[in-house]
Amino acid sequence: TPPVPALELISVSHTYGARKALDGVSFTIQPGRFAVLLGLNGAGKTTLFSLVSHLFATRGGQIRIFGYDIGRKPGDALRRLGIVFQARTLDLDLTVRQNLSYHAALHGIGPRETRRRIGALLESIDMSDRLNDKARNLSGGQMRRVEIIRALLHRPSLLLLDEATVGLDVKSRATILADIRKLVEEEGISVLWATHLIDEVSDADQVIILDKGKLMADGGVEDVVAATGARTISDAFA
Ligand code: ATP
Repeated sequence: TPPVPALELISVSHTYGARKALDGVSFTIQPGRFAVLLGLNGAGKTTLFSLVSHLFATRGGQIRIFGYDIGRKPGDALRRLGIVFQARTLDLDLTVRQNLSYHAALHGIGPRETRRRIGALLESIDMSDRLNDKARNLSGGQMRRVEIIRALLHRPSLLLLDEATVGLDVKSRATILADIRKLVEEEGISVLWATHLIDEVSDADQVIILDKGKLMADGGVEDVVAATGARTISDAFA
């Protein structure tokens, strides 16, 4: 039998009033894959994330996380999910440790495991020395990395990142991508990375292109390029 997909969307649609933001989108991400969701602003990426993370109710279609339908088994589905939203979401007046501990408590992680997990994750992104710093004293890139390890505290199997590198300089962007790859390897998880930046696509296992709410392409980088009749991924996306 084939493995249970990390994420499965079956004919997912969403409208805001009369505006169709997602129109019958279906795709599957297999476990352990690094998938990139590519789309210009307004393509429907944030709407898709809002549905997968259960901020919005799914009305049209079905979403399954490791086999759990988020409409029917929301607890089982959400426990397997870690999410980094597009907006900044650290509490700036709290320290790094406090921000992370709060999230761990929400997930019912005990104090000893919380300490151990925070220590190990901070270490792996080279930020052990920032444990007791107020979040407001971190750089934009450091804040993002803390948000990323916060999303991993409860050991999710699928990590969603929405425009995680927006507003950061080139060096921070590269660091974050490298950190994500390292964490993904260490934790053995699947990733859905939403971006409108073409240069973040090149070594993805899978590329999913959304255009005005519709699935335009889904496959390996080369397949996607071939399917669109373009010569490079940049041309395919132009
Ligand atoms: P961005 O990166 O700019 O957020 P996106 O690819 O994430 O773009 P969405 O934010 O999902 O796209 O938006 C998809 C479409 O739905 C757009 O046409 C947008 O204008 C519209 N839309 C999004 N949110 C709302 C809302 N709350 N009310 C009405 N229309 C909305």
